[in-house]
Amino acid sequence: MSFDTLGLMPELLRAVREQGYEIPTPVQAQAIPIILQRRDLMAGAQTGTGKTAAFVLPMLQLMAPAANTSASPARHPIRALVLTPTRELAMQVEESVRTYGKHLPLRSTTIFGGVNINPQIKALRAGVEILVATPGRLLDHYQQGTLHFGSLEFLVLDEADRMLDMGFIRDIKKILALLPTQRQSILCSATFGGEIRELAASLLKDPASVDVAPRNTAASLVRQMVLPVDRNRKKALLSYLVRTRPMEQVLVFTRTKHGANHLSEQLERDGIPCSSIHGNKSQPQRIKALEDFKAGNIQVLVATDIAARGLDIDQLPHVVNFELPHVAEDYIHRIGRTGRAGSEGEALSLVCVDEHKLLKDIEKLLKKDLPKQVIPDFEPDPSIKAEPIVTGRGGSGGRAPRQSGGRPSTSGGRISSSRSERGSVHAQPRTRTSPRGK
Ligand code: AMP
Repeated sequence: MSFDTLGLMPELLRAVREQGYEIPTPVQAQAIPIILQRRDLMAGAQTGTGKTAAFVLPMLQLMAPAANTSASPARHPIRALVLTPTRELAMQVEESVRTYGKHLPLRSTTIFGGVNINPQIKALRAGVEILVATPGRLLDHYQQGTLHFGSLEFLVLDEADRMLDMGFIRDIKKILALLPTQRQSILCSATFGGEIRELAASLLKDPASVDVAPRNTAASLVRQMVLPVDRNRKKALLSYLVRTRPMEQVLVFTRTKHGANHLSEQLERDGIPCSSIHGNKSQPQRIKALEDFKAGNIQVLVATDIAARGLDIDQLPHVVNFELPHVAEDYIHRIGRTGRAGSEGEALSLVCVDEHKLLKDIEKLLKKDLPKQVIPDFEPDPSIKAEPIVTGRGGSGGRAPRQSGGRPSTSGGRISSSRSERGSVHAQPRTRTSPRGK
């Protein structure tokens, strides 16, 4: 199937061609005709499936007839609102709007927290048709009277499951109450739990549904491997792997932002170009880290689940779970970063004795056991007993109830009290932690 058969207008087909896309992804092939028919849609798709173009392209097409080049702000009212859970995703979605809409005179902007509100107010005053926003800052703007939704035609909730996980449900309900009821709505979610269905029922009218990311299935092109290791040797093992294997671009997940910081510092000390991305980093810091990673200036990006959510990094070859997530479904989100768009990926999980229950949960969800490989010199010590997992101060995403729960973590990458762990890594002579090291 080619894009030409989807009913898209020449301006959009041209933009798609310029991006080098030849074949619509499954979610695009299914969703685009439905949205063009002005139907509400519930889309089961995670990042990496091409879901952004699946809703942006038809939305732009439906908006195109009234697009205009007038300088008057009044001629550019907000007609589409895309809500995203994170700033990074907001930026990426808006970049897609600009890319796909580059041959149409439609304006777009992002609004999200953590940065000065004034440039956003200025952009809104100038008039924009497409607004991509995170919920909290959107409400701030509304309260300041800088937003008007009287002309709104489209609402998209992107990564709705993650918005609920992040505790945005009240904000979303407040926002829904501000919008005209006569509109077309699209809800994207990688998972469809009860809460999502409830939300969908409250905002979608007679929706069609497409599901290209059936819950609990992991990307089939991803080679998954569990590397059993003691909690105190995880950093050494990761450092060893990165230095001795051809791993040119590695996204590493930790459960907490403190864990992400410590790990990133440690890897840098080992001479590995590294940065971290999490809720405590300022927006410019996050953008810089992401750009450096994409450009290949840093080899390892350490991220928390929430910060990594929605990151658009093409064909990422390696994902490492430095710590397994508390929620098994996050494992699927994490490894969804790799093996995209037909390319093969590798997902390695460093698993210590404390995490056996988490691993079991993941294997249950995947309905298969993951292959295990013990790395020579990193064999787990069978006398080490499991300890309860600490999540540390505040969790990794700030607002994520999943990650801010009170259970302490003693697994590798321990957060606030990782001194002994760092010590143990330093105490290892390089030759021991890196038997085949460079
Ligand atoms: P998304 O799931 O929307 O985050 O998209 C994931 C990646 O796939 C992005 O880098 C897109 O540029 C890319 N992409 C989207 N649609 C296509 C397509 N039809 N062919 C090839 N790449 C695509």
